[in-house]
Amino acid sequence: MASDVQIIGAGIAGLACARAIAGAGHRVVVREAADTVGGRMATRVLDGRPVDLGASYLTCRAEAFRTVVDDWVRRGLAHPWTSAFAVHTALGLERSEDGPVRYGTRGGLRSLVEDLATGLLVSLGDPVTSVGPGPRVNGWPADAVVLAMPDPQARRLLDPECVDELAETADSPWSPVIAVAAGWAERQWDVDGVFVHDDPMLEWIADDGRRRADSAPVLVAHTGADFAAEHSDEPDQAVGPVVDAVRSILGISEEPLWTFVQPWSEARPLKPRTSPYFFGEARIGLCGDAWGSPRVETAWASGHQLGLEIAETLD
Ligand SMILES: Cc1cc2nc3c(=O)[nH]c(=O)nc-3n(C[C@H](O)[C@H](O)[C@H](O)COP(=O)(O)OP(=O)(O)OC[C@H]3O[C@@H](n4cnc5c(N)ncnc54)[C@H](O)[C@@H]3O)c2cc1C
Repeated sequence: MASDVQIIGAGIAGLACARAIAGAGHRVVVREAADTVGGRMATRVLDGRPVDLGASYLTCRAEAFRTVVDDWVRRGLAHPWTSAFAVHTALGLERSEDGPVRYGTRGGLRSLVEDLATGLLVSLGDPVTSVGPGPRVNGWPADAVVLAMPDPQARRLLDPECVDELAETADSPWSPVIAVAAGWAERQWDVDGVFVHDDPMLEWIADDGRRRADSAPVLVAHTGADFAAEHSDEPDQAVGPVVDAVRSILGISEEPLWTFVQPWSEARPLKPRTSPYFFGEARIGLCGDAWGSPRVETAWASGHQLGLEIAETLD
C-alpha cells in the first residue's frame, strides 16, 4: 500500500530523498518554508542574470551521484568548470594544484535542484512548525518524516519527546558566512576563483561569469565565520570592506556598478559526522550535508541513501 512520507526542506538533500521514495512507489510531499527550492544552492537574478549566492560549484566523487551529474551535463544543465583555482597568500596570487573537477551551471545551481523537483509534489512557502512522535508534522500523522536541513533548524522543529533525534542533533555547531556579489562594467581579472589564505575577512572569491559560462564581469566573495558573526545584525555593513578586499587582491581599479549581500547564519557544519544519515524507530529521519564532508555531493548522497532505506522500510 502507498505510504505518506513528509520531507521537510527542499534543498538538494530533501529532493534526493523524495526522489528515492517516490521512485519506490510511495506518496511523498516535500514542504519548503521558502518560496523556491534550492536552500543553500541559492541563485538570484541580479542585473539581469542569475548569480550563485550560496554554494559556488559542485564536485562528484561517488558513482551514484556521478550518474546524476552526467545526466545534467548531457542535458546541458551543468558543465565541467575548472579543476584549478588561484590561491592568494602574502606572496600574492598563485595557481593552485589541480583538484577535483568543479561543475558550474548556466542557470545557477538552484536550477539543478529545480530539475530534481520535477514531477514531485513540492509545497512552497510552507514552513513546518513542529515534528513530534507518531510521527506527526504540525500535529498531523505521517508514515515517516524527514528533516532535510541544518541541525539548528531541525532542532527548532523537534518536539521535546523526540529524544533520539534531539540527541543526534545536539552538539552540532554551524558557522556563518556572508556572501557579497558585485558587478563591474568590464572584466579586470583573469581567475576562475581564488582561495584567500591570508585575509582576516575573506575566504573565497568566485568568478560568476566564468562558472556561468557567459563571461559577465561579476564576482561573488565569501567571508570567514568570525567576520560574518561580527556583521550578523547588519550584513549591509560588510559590503564596503569586502569589496575593498576583493579589489585589493585582484588589482581592480574601479568601484563595482552594483553589489548585493546574502548572509548565511547556518552555512557550514563544524563537526561533520561519519554516518550518512539518521533514521530511528520513531520513523523520523535526518539528512543533509552535516552527514559527511559539508558539500553538495554529500547532501545528495545523504538524502538519497535515507530515501532508499525509508522506501524499503515502508514496502
Ligand atoms: C556560502 C556557502 C558556500 C558553499 N559552497 C559550496 C561549494 O562551493 N561546493 C559545495 O559542494 N558545497 C558548498 N556549500 C554547501 C552546500 O550548499 C550544501 O552542502 C548543500 O546545499 C546542503 O543542502 P541541504 O539540502 O542539506 O540543505 P539546505 O540547502 O540548507 O536545505 C534546507 C532547506 O530546508 C528548508 N527549511 C528549513 N526549515 C524549514 C521548515 N521549518 N519548514 C520547511 N522548510 C524548512 C530551508 O528553507 C532550505 O530550503 C556552500 C554553502 C554555503 C552556505
